[in-house]
Amino acid sequence: MKKVLVLEDEASIRGFIVINLRRAGYDVIEAENGEQALELLRENPDARVALLDIMLPGIDGFEVCRRIRATNSRIGIIMLTARSQEMDKVTGLMTGADDYVTKPFSPAELTARVDALVRRSGGEEPVQVTGELSQPPFLLNTRNRTLEKNGQRIKLTQVEYSIMRVFMENPGKALSREEILDMVWGRDYFGELKIVDVNIRRLRLKIEDNVQNPAYITTVWGYGYKWGL
Ligand code: CA
Repeated sequence: MKKVLVLEDEASIRGFIVINLRRAGYDVIEAENGEQALELLRENPDARVALLDIMLPGIDGFEVCRRIRATNSRIGIIMLTARSQEMDKVTGLMTGADDYVTKPFSPAELTARVDALVRRSGGEEPVQVTGELSQPPFLLNTRNRTLEKNGQRIKLTQVEYSIMRVFMENPGKALSREEILDMVWGRDYFGELKIVDVNIRRLRLKIEDNVQNPAYITTVWGYGYKWGL
């Protein structure tokens, strides 16, 4: 069964999330603080998605996210934001989260987001028979879902990997933000276009020689992005 970690200090909200994810067929593990969540993830390396509340006693959700990402780029991470402030969303995504859900959310919205990330995290995609996409200095291995630049492995989250793949499969083509959202997050996804921009900002930090003047992922003003100049 697909395993999901829920970190939320408020018992009533945690209970609501857990019951709905179990109903949707997930094996749910629960934590009420950040330290406990990190320990549970060490004991359950097969967890596919982590839902992280931000405001917590002890270390906050951003810090938990940062610590998870320090050792695990594969797991999907969704931040639970209490406020609809843009800053929270952007901070969460820049610390390595893949998505965020703003409270209050419906059970349908929550499970749709988790389902989308589980699909992204690779386990349910058809087996790829193609091996590598080589565009020096980059080499994308579609079997292991890894990226190398000049022979050096670059650690990517699953979403970042998916974005790289979309770009490398469409060199020189201007892609709208909507197209990227559809291809990476899926057509049934009902998030915001902003997450495309934030993920690309984070990806640029990892792959560009000069983030101020990107040479690989270039901006197509008022439209979207393009791989190459
Ligand atoms: Ca809280």
